Amino acid sequence: MARSDDDQGFMEMALQQARLAAAAGEIPVGAVVVRDGVVLGAGHNAPIGQHDPTAHAEIAALRAAARQLGNYRLDDCTLYVTLEPCAMCSGAVLQARLARVVFGAAEPKTGAAGSVLDLFDNPAVNHQTRIEGGVLADQCAALLRHFFQQRRELARQKISWPLRQDALRTPEQAFVDIPGLPGASHYIDDLPTLAGLRLHYVDVGPADSALVFFCVHGQGAWSAQFLPWMQAVDAAGYRVVAPDLIGFGRSDKPKRESMHTAAWHGQILEELLAYLDLPAFVLVVTGLEGAWGLNLLSSAPQRVRGLLLCQEQPGSAGPSTAFLAPFPDRGHQAALRALPQRMPVAPETLAVLRDNWCGPTVFLASDAEALFDTDAVQALLAANVHPVPHKKSAHHAAAVCTFDLATLKSRFAG
Ligand SMILES: [Zn+2]
Repeated sequence: MARSDDDQGFMEMALQQARLAAAAGEIPVGAVVVRDGVVLGAGHNAPIGQHDPTAHAEIAALRAAARQLGNYRLDDCTLYVTLEPCAMCSGAVLQARLARVVFGAAEPKTGAAGSVLDLFDNPAVNHQTRIEGGVLADQCAALLRHFFQQRRELARQKISWPLRQDALRTPEQAFVDIPGLPGASHYIDDLPTLAGLRLHYVDVGPADSALVFFCVHGQGAWSAQFLPWMQAVDAAGYRVVAPDLIGFGRSDKPKRESMHTAAWHGQILEELLAYLDLPAFVLVVTGLEGAWGLNLLSSAPQRVRGLLLCQEQPGSAGPSTAFLAPFPDRGHQAALRALPQRMPVAPETLAVLRDNWCGPTVFLASDAEALFDTDAVQALLAANVHPVPHKKSAHHAAAVCTFDLATLKSRFAG
């Protein structure tokens, strides 16, 4: 059938546009606008490259065709697009009064031409555009599938990112006996202050979680410190983020001790937070060695909505071989030597605790005053913050976590 042959031919052109998008690292969607067998405009998906959330293939093709015709109305035109259009593009199609839209693959998550909703089947809309799906659907879908497969593969390969000459990286086999959370490990090396060092962080739980916990480990520890806690929080459906400071855990370890200062680590944490753009979170810090993490209260105050101060790593029986795994020899221990056993809680932070802090605060400890830098706890008490003392009778991970979650939900989620 000639009509159908035409449709396939124009869809091939749209696919060609989609391949251009893939080559530019954009989700491969392409579109062409045709009238009387003549292509008036073509375009491909480019929101990343153009910093433009509206830079979908359809919009680009519609704009090109409208410019070509010198008219914002595209009467008698057909839009060919490799993927079912979203609500925005469907709206644009109706604005342009296209005669017909032909798409390739259906888009079950955002499609507005029948999948999620159908903007073209609304009798209240004046103009009616005919819609047909499934033209070269397999090729269109395969292009998308291949693109996402490749992207996942690249993400996996990033684990073997280059190592800076002045740094060490604990071999992966050092961690084989340490249980992890599936899919929780992430790496980043392009924060300004990292200057190519690779930072590891754990991030589990849904992006739209009602509660987010940000855990800062202490000197001598790393994110594994929070593992039983993270498992319980993840199981409860909340999000937990726990970085390994540079020099610790799975993060790169500079050989030079002088790189390690509290200010440098604090700057990296701030850049990581800006990169992750977390919603306001509950800041989790542990014992004397981790109390310096409270400094985020003064450096990134708008991000902290609650405090959880733990005597030890929550839900764990205490230091174990897992803690030592990242530091197999002297070379890997530069951070342990360089940083003081108790990195200081900054005077500005103490002032915030004393004068400004009014968020919910939980002490997970039998004796709050024995917990932290006395100054920090005194500042909280002076500010009339009423902590919940936790009778730490059982070290059993599950028991502690169950208690925590029930309390924390009522304390922090409100
Ligand atoms: Zn769209």
